[in-house]
Amino acid sequence: MKIGINDLQRHTRNLEFNLRHAIERVLRSGRYVLGGECSSFEQEFAAYCEAAHCVALASGTDALELSLRALGIGDGMRVATVANAGSFSAVTIRAVRAVPVFVEVDPGSHLMKIEDLEALLQEDRIDAVIITHLFGFMHDMQAIRGLTERAGVPLLEDCAQAPGARRDGRRAGSVGDAAAFSFYPTKNLGALGDGGAIISNNLQLADRLRLLRQYGWDRKYSIACLGGRNSRLDEMQAAVLRAKLPHLDRWNTRRREIAARYANGIRNCRVTCPPQRGEEYVAHLFVVTCDDPDGLRRYLASHQIATDVHYPIPDHLQPAVSQNNSISLPVTERLAKRILTLPCFPELSDEEVDYIIGAINAW
Ligand SMILES: *Cc1c(COP(=O)(O)O)cnc(C)c1O
Repeated sequence: MKIGINDLQRHTRNLEFNLRHAIERVLRSGRYVLGGECSSFEQEFAAYCEAAHCVALASGTDALELSLRALGIGDGMRVATVANAGSFSAVTIRAVRAVPVFVEVDPGSHLMKIEDLEALLQEDRIDAVIITHLFGFMHDMQAIRGLTERAGVPLLEDCAQAPGARRDGRRAGSVGDAAAFSFYPTKNLGALGDGGAIISNNLQLADRLRLLRQYGWDRKYSIACLGGRNSRLDEMQAAVLRAKLPHLDRWNTRRREIAARYANGIRNCRVTCPPQRGEEYVAHLFVVTCDDPDGLRRYLASHQIATDVHYPIPDHLQPAVSQNNSISLPVTERLAKRILTLPCFPELSDEEVDYIIGAINAW
Protein backbone atom coordinates (compact mmCIF):
# COMPACT_ATOMS: atom_id res chain seq x y z
CA MET A 1 0.00 0.00 0.00
CA LYS A 2 1.25 3.52 -0.89
CA ILE A 3 -0.56 6.48 0.65
CA GLY A 4 -0.05 10.15 -0.22
CA ILE A 5 -0.76 13.15 2.01
CA ASN A 6 -3.51 13.98 -0.51
CA ASP A 7 -4.91 12.35 -3.63
CA LEU A 8 -6.51 14.94 -5.89
CA GLN A 9 -6.76 12.46 -8.76
CA ARG A 10 -9.15 10.30 -6.76
CA HIS A 11 -11.03 13.37 -5.56
CA THR A 12 -11.51 14.72 -9.09
CA ARG A 13 -12.29 11.34 -10.67
CA ASN A 14 -15.33 10.88 -8.39
CA LEU A 15 -16.79 14.14 -9.69
CA GLU A 16 -15.53 14.09 -13.26
CA PHE A 17 -18.98 14.08 -14.89
CA ASN A 18 -20.17 17.15 -12.96
CA LEU A 19 -16.89 18.99 -13.50
CA ARG A 20 -16.91 18.40 -17.26
CA HIS A 21 -20.47 19.64 -17.41
CA ALA A 22 -19.55 22.81 -15.45
CA ILE A 23 -16.49 23.54 -17.58
CA GLU A 24 -18.37 23.00 -20.84
CA ARG A 25 -21.03 25.46 -19.68
CA VAL A 26 -18.29 28.08 -19.29
CA LEU A 27 -16.66 27.19 -22.61
CA ARG A 28 -19.90 27.78 -24.45
CA SER A 29 -20.83 30.96 -22.53
CA GLY A 30 -18.19 33.21 -24.12
CA ARG A 31 -17.76 34.98 -20.76
CA TYR A 32 -14.65 34.07 -18.75
CA VAL A 33 -14.29 36.57 -15.88
CA LEU A 34 -16.88 38.19 -13.57
CA GLY A 35 -19.89 36.59 -15.23
CA GLY A 36 -22.88 34.62 -14.08
CA GLU A 37 -20.91 31.69 -12.63
CA CYS A 38 -19.00 34.02 -10.32
CA SER A 39 -22.08 35.90 -9.08
CA SER A 40 -24.03 32.65 -8.62
CA PHE A 41 -21.15 31.13 -6.69
CA GLU A 42 -20.99 34.23 -4.48
CA GLN A 43 -24.69 33.90 -3.64
CA GLU A 44 -24.45 30.16 -3.04
CA PHE A 45 -21.32 30.41 -0.89
CA ALA A 46 -22.72 33.29 1.21
CA ALA A 47 -25.88 31.23 1.79
CA TYR A 48 -23.79 28.17 2.70
CA CYS A 49 -21.77 30.23 5.21
CA GLU A 50 -24.98 31.83 6.53
CA ALA A 51 -23.60 35.29 5.85
CA ALA A 52 -25.03 38.17 3.83
CA HIS A 53 -22.31 38.87 1.26
CA CYS A 54 -19.54 37.07 -0.59
CA VAL A 55 -16.86 38.59 -2.82
CA ALA A 56 -14.95 35.98 -4.83
CA LEU A 57 -11.24 36.58 -5.44
CA ALA A 58 -8.13 35.05 -6.97
CA SER A 59 -6.67 33.51 -3.78
CA GLY A 60 -6.89 33.18 -0.02
CA THR A 61 -3.86 35.43 0.37
CA ASP A 62 -5.63 38.19 -1.57
CA ALA A 63 -8.69 37.61 0.60
CA LEU A 64 -6.64 38.30 3.74
CA GLU A 65 -4.78 41.27 2.32
CA LEU A 66 -7.79 42.98 0.72
CA SER A 67 -9.85 42.42 3.89
CA LEU A 68 -7.19 44.22 5.89
CA ARG A 69 -7.20 47.08 3.37
CA ALA A 70 -11.00 47.28 3.36
CA LEU A 71 -10.99 47.39 7.17
CA GLY A 72 -8.66 50.39 6.96
CA ILE A 73 -5.53 48.65 8.24
CA GLY A 74 -2.33 50.28 7.01
CA ASP A 75 0.93 52.01 7.92
CA GLY A 76 2.25 51.05 11.36
CA MET A 77 -1.06 49.68 12.63
CA ARG A 78 -0.88 46.67 14.91
CA VAL A 79 -2.65 43.40 14.08
CA ALA A 80 -2.84 40.50 16.53
CA THR A 81 -2.33 37.04 15.05
CA VAL A 82 -0.67 33.70 15.79
CA ALA A 83 2.80 32.56 14.69
CA ASN A 84 2.02 28.86 14.08
CA ALA A 85 -0.33 29.07 11.08
CA GLY A 86 2.00 29.13 8.09
CA SER A 87 2.73 32.88 7.93
CA PHE A 88 -0.23 33.71 5.66
CA SER A 89 -1.64 36.31 8.05
CA ALA A 90 1.72 37.81 8.99
CA VAL A 91 2.80 38.16 5.35
CA THR A 92 -0.42 39.98 4.44
CA ILE A 93 -0.22 42.18 7.55
CA ARG A 94 3.28 43.20 6.42
CA ALA A 95 2.02 43.68 2.84
CA VAL A 96 -0.28 46.49 4.02
CA ARG A 97 2.66 47.97 6.00
CA ALA A 98 1.12 47.04 9.34
CA VAL A 99 2.86 45.17 12.18
CA PRO A 100 2.02 41.59 13.24
CA VAL A 101 1.69 41.22 17.01
CA PHE A 102 2.08 37.52 17.79
CA VAL A 103 -0.11 35.93 20.44
CA GLU A 104 0.71 32.60 22.09
CA VAL A 105 -1.38 29.51 21.31
CA ASP A 106 -3.10 26.92 23.49
CA PRO A 107 -1.00 23.72 23.66
CA GLY A 108 -4.06 21.45 23.25
CA SER A 109 -5.94 23.13 20.39
CA HIS A 110 -3.01 24.98 18.72
CA LEU A 111 -5.41 27.98 18.46
CA MET A 112 -4.81 31.52 19.78
CA LYS A 113 -4.91 31.58 23.57
CA ILE A 114 -7.98 33.62 24.50
CA GLU A 115 -6.60 34.80 27.87
CA ASP A 116 -3.50 36.14 26.14
CA LEU A 117 -5.59 37.98 23.55
CA GLU A 118 -7.72 39.46 26.32
CA ALA A 119 -4.62 40.70 28.19
CA LEU A 120 -3.12 42.11 24.99
CA LEU A 121 -6.29 44.03 24.12
CA GLN A 122 -6.28 45.57 27.60
CA GLU A 123 -2.61 46.42 27.80
CA ASP A 124 -1.64 47.38 24.29
CA ARG A 125 -2.88 49.30 21.26
CA ILE A 126 -4.24 46.74 18.77
CA ASP A 127 -5.97 47.84 15.55
CA ALA A 128 -7.32 44.49 14.31
CA VAL A 129 -7.37 40.80 15.22
CA ILE A 130 -7.00 37.84 12.83
CA ILE A 131 -8.27 34.49 14.09
CA THR A 132 -7.10 31.42 12.12
CA HIS A 133 -9.29 28.33 12.46
CA LEU A 134 -6.20 26.16 12.19
CA PHE A 135 -6.35 22.53 10.96
CA GLY A 136 -10.15 22.89 10.63
CA PHE A 137 -10.86 23.71 14.30
CA MET A 138 -13.25 26.63 14.57
CA HIS A 139 -12.23 28.88 17.45
CA ASP A 140 -14.60 30.10 20.19
CA MET A 141 -15.86 33.07 18.18
CA GLN A 142 -18.54 34.05 20.71
CA ALA A 143 -15.88 34.65 23.36
CA ILE A 144 -13.50 36.33 20.91
CA ARG A 145 -16.20 38.56 19.41
CA GLY A 146 -17.04 39.68 22.98
CA LEU A 147 -13.42 40.73 23.53
CA THR A 148 -12.95 42.55 20.22
CA GLU A 149 -16.29 44.35 20.50
CA ARG A 150 -15.44 45.57 24.00
CA ALA A 151 -12.08 46.81 22.65
CA GLY A 152 -13.70 48.30 19.52
CA VAL A 153 -11.32 46.38 17.25
CA PRO A 154 -12.25 44.80 13.89
CA LEU A 155 -12.16 41.01 13.72
CA LEU A 156 -11.04 39.04 10.66
CA GLU A 157 -11.42 35.24 10.44
CA ASP A 158 -9.01 33.13 8.38
CA CYS A 159 -11.29 30.27 7.31
CA ALA A 160 -8.98 28.79 4.66
CA GLN A 161 -8.84 25.51 6.62
CA ALA A 162 -12.36 25.51 8.06
CA PRO A 163 -15.12 26.07 5.48
CA GLY A 164 -18.33 24.57 6.83
CA ALA A 165 -17.29 24.33 10.48
CA ARG A 166 -20.03 25.32 12.91
CA ARG A 167 -19.85 26.31 16.58
CA ASP A 168 -22.58 27.68 18.87
CA GLY A 169 -24.90 27.67 15.87
CA ARG A 170 -22.70 29.89 13.66
CA ARG A 171 -20.72 28.89 10.58
CA ALA A 172 -17.01 29.70 10.44
CA GLY A 173 -16.68 33.14 8.87
CA SER A 174 -20.11 34.46 9.84
CA VAL A 175 -19.07 36.00 13.18
CA GLY A 176 -16.16 38.30 12.33
CA ASP A 177 -16.39 41.59 10.43
CA ALA A 178 -14.96 39.72 7.44
CA ALA A 179 -13.65 36.22 6.74
CA ALA A 180 -11.10 34.99 4.21
CA PHE A 181 -11.36 31.65 2.40
CA SER A 182 -8.95 29.86 0.07
CA PHE A 183 -9.96 27.42 -2.68
CA TYR A 184 -6.44 26.12 -3.30
CA PRO A 185 -6.92 22.56 -4.66
CA THR A 186 -6.06 20.71 -1.43
CA LYS A 187 -8.38 22.75 0.83
CA ASN A 188 -11.69 21.23 2.02
CA LEU A 189 -13.36 23.11 -0.84
CA GLY A 190 -10.79 23.27 -3.64
CA ALA A 191 -10.89 24.61 -7.20
CA LEU A 192 -8.92 23.20 -10.16
CA GLY A 193 -6.46 26.04 -9.67
CA ASP A 194 -6.32 29.06 -7.36
CA GLY A 195 -9.28 30.88 -5.89
CA GLY A 196 -10.45 32.68 -2.78
CA ALA A 197 -13.34 34.60 -1.26
CA ILE A 198 -14.33 36.98 1.50
CA ILE A 199 -17.63 36.76 3.28
CA SER A 200 -19.08 39.53 5.42
CA ASN A 201 -22.37 40.73 6.84
CA ASN A 202 -21.34 44.34 6.19
CA LEU A 203 -22.58 45.63 2.83
CA GLN A 204 -20.28 48.67 2.84
CA LEU A 205 -17.26 46.45 3.39
CA ALA A 206 -18.35 44.05 0.62
CA ASP A 207 -18.84 46.98 -1.77
CA ARG A 208 -15.32 48.28 -0.99
CA LEU A 209 -13.93 44.80 -1.66
CA ARG A 210 -15.63 44.69 -5.06
CA LEU A 211 -13.71 47.85 -5.95
CA LEU A 212 -10.42 46.54 -4.55
CA ARG A 213 -10.56 43.27 -6.50
CA GLN A 214 -10.76 45.11 -9.81
CA TYR A 215 -8.22 47.97 -9.97
CA GLY A 216 -10.29 50.16 -7.61
CA TRP A 217 -12.87 50.73 -10.35
CA ASP A 218 -16.42 51.75 -9.43
CA ARG A 219 -17.22 51.52 -13.13
CA LYS A 220 -15.03 50.94 -16.17
CA TYR A 221 -11.79 53.00 -16.06
CA SER A 222 -13.02 55.13 -13.13
CA ILE A 223 -10.72 54.72 -10.13
CA ALA A 224 -12.74 55.17 -6.93
CA CYS A 225 -9.99 54.10 -4.50
CA LEU A 226 -6.30 53.25 -4.39
CA GLY A 227 -4.96 49.89 -3.18
CA GLY A 228 -6.92 47.94 -5.77
CA ARG A 229 -5.51 45.23 -8.03
CA ASN A 230 -6.64 42.46 -10.33
CA SER A 231 -7.92 39.69 -8.08
CA ARG A 232 -10.88 38.19 -9.91
CA LEU A 233 -12.08 34.59 -9.65
CA ASP A 234 -12.41 33.28 -13.21
CA GLU A 235 -15.61 31.71 -14.48
CA MET A 236 -14.05 28.26 -14.90
CA GLN A 237 -13.07 28.09 -11.22
CA ALA A 238 -16.42 29.55 -10.13
CA ALA A 239 -18.27 26.85 -12.12
CA VAL A 240 -16.03 24.13 -10.63
CA LEU A 241 -16.65 25.45 -7.11
CA ARG A 242 -20.41 25.51 -7.74
CA ALA A 243 -20.25 21.85 -8.78
CA LYS A 244 -18.31 20.96 -5.64
CA LEU A 245 -20.03 23.06 -2.95
CA PRO A 246 -23.09 20.74 -2.60
CA HIS A 247 -20.66 17.95 -1.56
CA LEU A 248 -18.70 19.93 1.04
CA ASP A 249 -20.74 18.87 4.10
CA ARG A 250 -20.48 15.21 3.09
CA TRP A 251 -16.70 15.53 2.59
CA ASN A 252 -16.32 17.29 5.95
CA THR A 253 -18.29 14.50 7.65
CA ARG A 254 -16.00 11.90 6.06
CA ARG A 255 -12.90 13.85 7.13
CA ARG A 256 -14.24 13.90 10.70
CA GLU A 257 -14.88 10.12 10.55
CA ILE A 258 -11.27 9.53 9.48
CA ALA A 259 -10.01 11.76 12.31
CA ALA A 260 -12.15 9.83 14.81
CA ARG A 261 -10.86 6.50 13.44
CA TYR A 262 -7.29 7.70 13.98
CA ALA A 263 -8.04 9.01 17.47
CA ASN A 264 -9.72 5.75 18.53
CA GLY A 265 -7.13 3.51 16.87
CA ILE A 266 -3.79 5.12 17.69
CA ARG A 267 -2.44 3.52 20.86
CA ASN A 268 1.16 4.61 21.15
CA CYS A 269 2.20 6.53 24.25
CA ARG A 270 4.68 8.61 22.19
CA VAL A 271 1.96 9.95 19.85
CA THR A 272 -0.87 12.29 20.92
CA CYS A 273 -3.91 12.83 18.69
CA PRO A 274 -5.71 16.18 18.44
CA PRO A 275 -8.88 16.58 20.53
CA GLN A 276 -12.02 15.24 18.84
CA ARG A 277 -14.86 17.67 18.29
CA GLY A 278 -18.25 17.72 16.62
CA GLU A 279 -19.21 20.05 13.82
CA GLU A 280 -16.73 22.69 14.95
CA TYR A 281 -13.96 20.50 13.48
CA VAL A 282 -13.78 19.86 9.72
CA ALA A 283 -10.48 17.91 9.89
CA HIS A 284 -8.60 19.82 7.21
CA LEU A 285 -5.33 18.49 8.60
CA PHE A 286 -4.84 15.68 11.13
CA VAL A 287 -1.87 16.86 13.16
CA VAL A 288 -0.44 14.65 15.91
CA THR A 289 2.21 15.64 18.43
CA CYS A 290 5.06 13.32 19.10
CA ASP A 291 8.42 13.19 20.96
CA ASP A 292 10.35 12.40 17.75
CA PRO A 293 8.38 13.57 14.68
CA ASP A 294 11.39 13.20 12.36
CA GLY A 295 11.84 9.58 13.43
CA LEU A 296 8.13 8.84 13.00
CA ARG A 297 8.18 10.56 9.62
CA ARG A 298 11.09 8.42 8.37
CA TYR A 299 9.47 5.27 9.77
CA LEU A 300 6.14 5.98 8.05
CA ALA A 301 7.93 6.84 4.80
CA SER A 302 9.58 3.39 4.93
CA HIS A 303 6.01 2.00 5.03
CA GLN A 304 5.04 4.10 1.95
CA ILE A 305 2.99 6.54 4.06
CA ALA A 306 3.51 10.24 3.26
CA THR A 307 3.40 12.87 6.02
CA ASP A 308 4.00 16.61 6.19
CA VAL A 309 4.70 19.31 8.79
CA HIS A 310 2.24 22.19 9.29
CA TYR A 311 4.20 24.33 9.95
CA PRO A 312 7.92 23.88 10.61
CA ILE A 313 9.06 27.50 11.12
CA PRO A 314 7.05 29.82 13.39
CA ASP A 315 6.46 33.28 11.87
CA HIS A 316 8.34 35.20 14.57
CA LEU A 317 11.49 33.18 13.78
CA GLN A 318 11.37 34.05 10.07
CA PRO A 319 13.46 37.19 9.54
CA ALA A 320 11.63 38.04 6.32
CA VAL A 321 8.31 38.09 8.19
CA SER A 322 9.06 39.39 11.68
CA GLN A 323 11.00 42.57 12.39
CA ASN A 324 11.54 41.46 15.95
CA ASN A 325 13.16 38.05 16.23
CA SER A 326 13.75 38.38 19.97
CA ILE A 327 10.11 37.59 20.78
CA SER A 328 9.71 34.36 22.70
CA LEU A 329 6.64 32.16 22.23
CA PRO A 330 7.55 28.99 24.14
CA VAL A 331 4.36 27.00 23.40
CA THR A 332 4.42 27.88 19.68
CA GLU A 333 8.12 26.96 19.46
CA ARG A 334 7.72 23.69 21.39
CA LEU A 335 4.74 22.60 19.24
CA ALA A 336 6.63 23.34 16.01
CA LYS A 337 9.25 20.76 17.06
CA ARG A 338 6.65 18.09 17.89
CA ILE A 339 4.04 18.13 15.12
CA LEU A 340 3.45 15.72 12.26
CA THR A 341 0.54 15.71 9.77
CA LEU A 342 -1.00 12.36 8.77
CA PRO A 343 -2.98 11.79 5.54
CA CYS A 344 -6.59 12.95 6.01
CA PHE A 345 -8.77 13.45 2.94
CA PRO A 346 -12.31 12.27 2.17
CA GLU A 347 -11.31 9.57 -0.35
CA LEU A 348 -9.03 7.78 2.12
CA SER A 349 -10.51 4.31 2.77
CA ASP A 350 -10.98 2.73 6.21
CA GLU A 351 -8.43 0.06 5.18
CA GLU A 352 -5.84 2.73 4.46
CA VAL A 353 -6.50 4.52 7.76
CA ASP A 354 -6.19 1.19 9.60
CA TYR A 355 -2.90 0.47 7.79
CA ILE A 356 -1.53 3.84 8.98
CA ILE A 357 -2.82 3.24 12.52
CA GLY A 358 -1.18 -0.20 12.54
CA ALA A 359 2.13 1.27 11.44
CA ILE A 360 2.03 3.98 14.12
CA ASN A 361 1.13 1.49 16.85
CA ALA A 362 4.06 -0.72 15.83
CA TRP A 363 6.55 2.20 15.91
C1 LIG B 1 -4.00 28.12 2.28
C2 LIG B 1 -4.10 29.13 3.32
C3 LIG B 1 -4.04 30.50 3.04
C4 LIG B 1 -3.65 31.03 1.68
O1 LIG B 1 -4.52 30.72 0.67
P1 LIG B 1 -3.99 30.79 -0.87
O2 LIG B 1 -5.24 30.57 -1.65
O3 LIG B 1 -3.00 29.69 -1.05
O4 LIG B 1 -3.41 32.13 -1.08
C5 LIG B 1 -4.23 31.39 4.07
N1 LIG B 1 -4.44 30.98 5.33
C6 LIG B 1 -4.47 29.67 5.67
C7 LIG B 1 -4.71 29.29 7.09
C8 LIG B 1 -4.28 28.71 4.68
O5 LIG B 1 -4.32 27.41 5.03
